[in-house]
Amino acid sequence: MEGQLRTLANMQALDDEIGRYRVLQRELPKQLNDIIDSVDQATANLLICETARAEIGKKQRGLEADIKQHQEQSRKYATQLSEIKNNKEYKALNSEISYLKTKISEIESQLLELMDEDTAAKEQVDNAKKELEKAEQCKRDKEGDLRMQIEGLEAKIEEIRAERNDLARTLPVSVVKQYGNMIKNKNNQAVAYNREGSCGSCGFVIRQQMRIELQLMRKLIFCENCGRILMNRFAEEPTESKEA
Ligand SMILES: [Zn+2]
Repeated sequence: MEGQLRTLANMQALDDEIGRYRVLQRELPKQLNDIIDSVDQATANLLICETARAEIGKKQRGLEADIKQHQEQSRKYATQLSEIKNNKEYKALNSEISYLKTKISEIESQLLELMDEDTAAKEQVDNAKKELEKAEQCKRDKEGDLRMQIEGLEAKIEEIRAERNDLARTLPVSVVKQYGNMIKNKNNQAVAYNREGSCGSCGFVIRQQMRIELQLMRKLIFCENCGRILMNRFAEEPTESKEA
């Protein structure tokens, strides 16, 4: 019976390992998605920043064209001015010219503001580029490795499962059935160890009589609360012992 118990303990150790790989099977694809997501987000963000900067550039060019037009107009008026003899027309044209000058200086101060906006926008674009580079670097560094790990997990689990099944073949079918049901239905845990007089899994106190039986190792003992196979932890680490 001690051999059976050791085998069950070894099987549980393998199922624990499978459990850890199952967690990775859930976690690693999430990590991979996060990495890909951050590249997508950084790309989208860079596009937003570049679009915003392009808008500013467009406004600047529009205003510069306005200035040019006003200047040309102003020069045209100035030429006309020298040809005018009529005082009233002279005044009217002169006030047109001074209106254009005011307009130009207004636009120039708008342009100065836009230059500040452009500086800020350029900084945002630069930052967004850096973020994207960082995200892409992270993807380059980790994606391949993660994909390989994810692809390898199922094979790894199969390998351990085969090892566990080899152990199971050395046990009576009824015991294997009980064990398998608990692995399936009791959170991947069929074996619970005596932890200072309580079930190591559910914490239920083990009666004195059962504690003695645990030491004797003459039959399988089940936790009266959770139903798991109870045993004392073996002094040494569970070995690959396959004797029944
Ligand atoms: Zn229990």
